[in-house]
Amino acid sequence: TQTDSLVERDRQNIWHHISPYSEAKPPTIFTEAKGAWMTDHQGNRVLDGMSGLWCVNVGYGREELAKAAYDQMVQMPYTPMTQSHQPAIELAAKLNEYLEDDYMIFYSNSGSDANEVAFKIARQYHQQNGEASRFKFISRYRAYHGSSMGALSATGQALRKYKYEPLVPGFLHVAPPDSYRRPAGMSVEEFNIQKAQEFEEKIIWEQKETIAGIIMEPIITGGGVIIPHPVYMERVQEICKKYGVLLIIDEVICGFGRTGKMFGHMNYNIKPDIISMAKGLTSAYLPLSVTAVRKEIFETFKKSEENSHFRHVNTFGGNPAACALALKNLEILERENLVARSAELGERLEQDLAELKDHPYVGDIRIKGFLMGIEMVEDKDTKEPATNERVGKIIAECREKGLIIGKNGDTVAGYNNILTLSPPLSCTDEDVDFIVSTIKEVLRNNK
Ligand code: PMP
Repeated sequence: TQTDSLVERDRQNIWHHISPYSEAKPPTIFTEAKGAWMTDHQGNRVLDGMSGLWCVNVGYGREELAKAAYDQMVQMPYTPMTQSHQPAIELAAKLNEYLEDDYMIFYSNSGSDANEVAFKIARQYHQQNGEASRFKFISRYRAYHGSSMGALSATGQALRKYKYEPLVPGFLHVAPPDSYRRPAGMSVEEFNIQKAQEFEEKIIWEQKETIAGIIMEPIITGGGVIIPHPVYMERVQEICKKYGVLLIIDEVICGFGRTGKMFGHMNYNIKPDIISMAKGLTSAYLPLSVTAVRKEIFETFKKSEENSHFRHVNTFGGNPAACALALKNLEILERENLVARSAELGERLEQDLAELKDHPYVGDIRIKGFLMGIEMVEDKDTKEPATNERVGKIIAECREKGLIIGKNGDTVAGYNNILTLSPPLSCTDEDVDFIVSTIKEVLRNNK
């Protein structure tokens, strides 16, 4: 049949991302999607509780996004960003509306790209300030910042890295503020201050003159939804200021409403020096990413012609159709109040799933906006992570009932025990009912 032949041709020709090759478990071939629901080539429907890879924030099937891209392609499909075009100009201005006009916008194609640009700008900035010795970056274990060599070096998940070493020198890591596993007797606030201080210790040990920047997500997403206490982010920013280190905030997942604010860092009292964005910028309908850089930093690039030359070009970066689509995507976010809706849905999940705290294998439930992690453990006292078998079974059963959820964790320690949920912000109330009832039912069956 045609179905078999599609699977067969996939097997013959496509090298899939990340998944190990499995004869027994071929990939699902999706053919249609609308709202939060996807249909595979055999007609099965599933609710995409992960918005693809945490990116389809406005949901599937938005014809006006397709039309915005179409209209732009027909009118003028391409201008390199060595020049300019109207969608790029309008989008940059729009992003700056959210960012209080304090940033310059540099376009690329992916989250990894956006972080690479951040690293290069940070290094050149310090050089131009006469501090060429500042080349190192500090990030956190468990964080994910991308797949290219620099972004992978910043990533703090050894399993993703060890086969590709040596990576880029000068990337250092500290522990994330995993409050769930804080020492007994310590408050969340005390623990978060202690974790923030690890940056200062690292800076001192490494010589402050060598540190270019700190890169972090406002909330660690892929490493298992680790939500810092506000004091953590504030302290990190203070440390950056004290030592002349740039604070780079990776908003690739947290941006565009995911955490109940337009940007994840807006949950905290901080102002990043550099911000990377991708995924939700276009809700993944087309590739586009942005590195937003504080205007004060850009000023140093204007001191002389030689200085102003940031030697980085990217053929597709700032593609006109992608920029036009992104503008329309932001219009949808605003028109449908999806950022506020995300905050509201988060509160709803919090209430509806509170009873799961009594489940024998649920260690912790962490929710911010429409981003959720449920940390599964074998034993609530020892907090021993749930086995991959237990977590895998729950995910498979959700999938059988028509709900895609994800899993993440501390891959350094080799466990992936955090169930993750990140559905489109446009989910209907019935969609949310379905998500909640499915998760509850599956967990009930797995006591
Ligand atoms: N940063 C974060 C926080 C991410 O989650 C990702 C992708 N999962 C990236 C960067 C890299 O983005 P991309 O896959 O578009 O290169």
